[in-house]
Amino acid sequence: MDKNFQEEFTQIIKFKPPLYKQRHQFIKDLVEKYRPKKVADLGCADCSLLRMLKFCSCIEVLAGLDICANVMKEKMHTLSPLPVDYLQPSERSLTVTLHHGSVAHKDPCMLGFDLVTCIELIEHLEEPELKKFPEVVFGFMAPSIVVISTPNSEFNPLLPGVMLYRHPDHKFEWNQAQFQSWALETARCYDYSVEFTGVGHPPTGMEKAGFCTQIGVFVRKYPQAGESVQSEKPTEAVYKTVFKAVYPSLKDEKYLQNAVISEVIFTAQIIKHRLMSKREEYGDDPERKSKFQPSMDCFSDYLGKLVVEKNMEPFISGNEVYIPLATIFSFPKVNRLCGTFEKLCKLIAGKVTLSSDGSAVMFNIENEEN
Ligand code: SAH
Repeated sequence: MDKNFQEEFTQIIKFKPPLYKQRHQFIKDLVEKYRPKKVADLGCADCSLLRMLKFCSCIEVLAGLDICANVMKEKMHTLSPLPVDYLQPSERSLTVTLHHGSVAHKDPCMLGFDLVTCIELIEHLEEPELKKFPEVVFGFMAPSIVVISTPNSEFNPLLPGVMLYRHPDHKFEWNQAQFQSWALETARCYDYSVEFTGVGHPPTGMEKAGFCTQIGVFVRKYPQAGESVQSEKPTEAVYKTVFKAVYPSLKDEKYLQNAVISEVIFTAQIIKHRLMSKREEYGDDPERKSKFQPSMDCFSDYLGKLVVEKNMEPFISGNEVYIPLATIFSFPKVNRLCGTFEKLCKLIAGKVTLSSDGSAVMFNIENEEN
């Protein structure tokens, strides 16, 4: 909503990048600094901030809340996983959920968050909602960090066309002293500290006007005592979930198994290919036949080292090529995916053709030229 308005006054004061992008960038920088796992955006509107945050690798749970279901639904499909997310599942897990409801009501789905953002939200709240807001966000949700941004009314005279408020839906706009006294009182009440900053610098000579968007960053003073605190907060669910996406992740055994099988076959194929090229090169020399020889490239060097140091040599016998699982497990990507050799064996069991003793991947090369 505020975005359109923004465009109107950029004629004279042109923020670069646009102010809404600066606000979102501010949150992204904060996420990169504090690395929260669970982030909720209250008054998320068209989910543009959530769309940006889903790329932050530390975040495992993202939630949005808005009182207007339609505005959330407009672009919520853009929060769904893309084909590439299925082709290359991420190592982290990520769940994105959108809820329809009001910040004036408590709902247990909002418990356990590390960071809660309220970007250009409070000025849209009616007085009774604004009164309840601190108890819901700071008292009930009680995340480690809360970020609240709101227009700074002292900047309004610098914005052409702004008569009373910047947006027709705004119920109020505070000057710096009003916002800061509300924020300090809220912080004091709920044991948070608060620091003030903003985005959208005033023009030279007008510094007293302050930032166009004023921001309060609240940090909880004392850690929460964990689960027990949450269980002391029984409340009925009042929000309606309108969207939920669970991203494919290697933490899910099903995706991990697929990734391991692909990587094992890929690694084994390369080793087989090298082995067979060498055989062609050295022909039937009984000393060198079927043996792997180190060569100039990294892969072969690495493999050569394994062969020499650990006796994990791939070999050809008749129409079969055998690539020891121990050799495959030594490759960093396979190793990182599986963690242990036992896990590797478990994940590929019945899915990859193995030698009779199960110690090597086996390929039949009867019909292969090379
Ligand atoms: N945060 C967004 C949009 C801010 S506009 C951004 O940065 O661009 C304010 C949003 O707050 C609107 O989408 C509006 O529907 C929502 N809103 C207003 N009152 C609300 C309430 N009581 N609870 C939750 N959301 C509310």
